[in-house]
Amino acid sequence: MRIDIHTHSNHSDGTDSPSELIECAAQAGLDVVGLTDHDTFTGWPQAQKRAKELGIGLLRGVELTCKHERTPVHLLAYLPDPTNQPLATVMEQTRHSRTRRIKEMAKRLGRDYPITWEMVSAQAAPGATLGRPHLADALVACGAIEHRGVAFEKLLHPDSPYYVRSFTPEATDMLALVTAAGGVPVLAHPLATARGKTLTPQHVEQLAGHGLFALEAHHRDHSPQQVTQVEQLAARLGLEVTGSSDYHGAGKFNRLGENLTQPRVLRAIVERGAIELL
Ligand code: AMP
Ligand code: ZN
Ligand code: FE
Ligand code: FE
Repeated sequence: MRIDIHTHSNHSDGTDSPSELIECAAQAGLDVVGLTDHDTFTGWPQAQKRAKELGIGLLRGVELTCKHERTPVHLLAYLPDPTNQPLATVMEQTRHSRTRRIKEMAKRLGRDYPITWEMVSAQAAPGATLGRPHLADALVACGAIEHRGVAFEKLLHPDSPYYVRSFTPEATDMLALVTAAGGVPVLAHPLATARGKTLTPQHVEQLAGHGLFALEAHHRDHSPQQVTQVEQLAARLGLEVTGSSDYHGAGKFNRLGENLTQPRVLRAIVERGAIELL
């Protein structure tokens, strides 16, 4: 069984539509793919239709942007009830704040580079959750920058004069909301130091006390040593581990199926989730 449970479509900052993503997952020989767009469920119906047509399993999920002890946290939530109002309301607030933030960053970048808010929003599918990758894509489209990665290194990182912060909910609050919505919470790439500041083991332990189910260990942003550290931390805290590609289509080098989750762990997620594996 080839199971990859963390990917992004163009309903957030990936470049494939949900249908295309499912087609790529089938081509990559996956048996189950998890769609986890940032702060939105809107990609699920299209992915569901194509997954059914192609006979591939779909794990419905979301990657929630939050913080703990002033450190950014990405919380994966699998199989939450999408009609749960408290969770939907906070996700709506996050998306609203992301839009305001990307508008402000576009304005600042527009002083030095030939980009406008209209050019940035044209990089995203209608209604998509906006993120810094859309700013990067606009900078690439106007020829100012070669690749998304270069835009992050040079212009979009937290110490950049163009950087603007956005509202993010507390991870402990999100864990409570996800759990109340019947979702299964997994901490995404917890030790990915390449992305900036990460949680300490003590912080992860605190979040485990708020109902985490697993830690994502096998992820390209973890070094082999970090993978081992996450596995050992999970074992100590009594948590499961997952693995996944964090595929973003053409937006990143991550390839579907480059890291996988064990069937036993998937079954445990499905047993706990509020909705079904499709
Ligand atoms: P934001 O959601 O606006 O905070 O932007 C963070 C997103 O940008 C992450 O989810 C990644 O998908 C993407 N990202 C972060 N660093 C890079 C990078 N170096 N190259 C390409 N994409 C990146
Ligand atoms: Zn992303
Ligand atoms: Fe993430
Ligand atoms: Fe992700």
